[in-house]
Amino acid sequence: MMIGVLALQGAFAEHEKVLDKLGAGWREIRKESDLRQPIKGLILPGGESTVQGKLLLELGLMEPIRHLLEKGMPVLGTCAGLILLAEKQTERDTAYLGTLPVTVRRNGYGRQLGSFTTRCLYEGIGEIPMTFIRAPYIEKAGKGVRITAVADGRIVGVEYENQIAISFHPELDDDLSVHKRFLQLVQGTDPSF
Ligand code: GLN
Repeated sequence: MMIGVLALQGAFAEHEKVLDKLGAGWREIRKESDLRQPIKGLILPGGESTVQGKLLLELGLMEPIRHLLEKGMPVLGTCAGLILLAEKQTERDTAYLGTLPVTVRRNGYGRQLGSFTTRCLYEGIGEIPMTFIRAPYIEKAGKGVRITAVADGRIVGVEYENQIAISFHPELDDDLSVHKRFLQLVQGTDPSF
């Protein structure tokens, strides 16, 4: 099973290590030609969404990735990846990929609060560690969006069609269950995109 990992900036190497542990193949996506060989799913890592968004545009990756997601390719977006997927941001009119009908608040916990880890329920999995780093949270979830995780009264995880989006960083903790869930989604998806 070949998973594409967007490797422009941020925590992509950590996701690759998790995929190694789970025995899934992966390929780094850095330019348009990296998408010519088929992938069955895509991971959008955490990092800095403004930088990643700019690079996606400059490298001509924004349109082809949006196209794949619109056709149903499974995606796991973590932190900045969630921001890239969101249809709306509280302080920005234009979306990046915009395939996920949620409104997201960047740096929702304040810029000062660097990082923290907590344990919360993830729907269908149970309690897992959740590490937040200058994290966004979801202010509004649109129609058809399933809320999968709430921490401190704030929505930090959602699933919508073949998109899994979370505010936290499962690739930084030992718990592999979110990645396992993503790989199950990939396995159950007809790769006709
Ligand atoms: N604050 C970052 C942003 O706005 C996201 C942080 C992260 O991905 N850990 O893009």
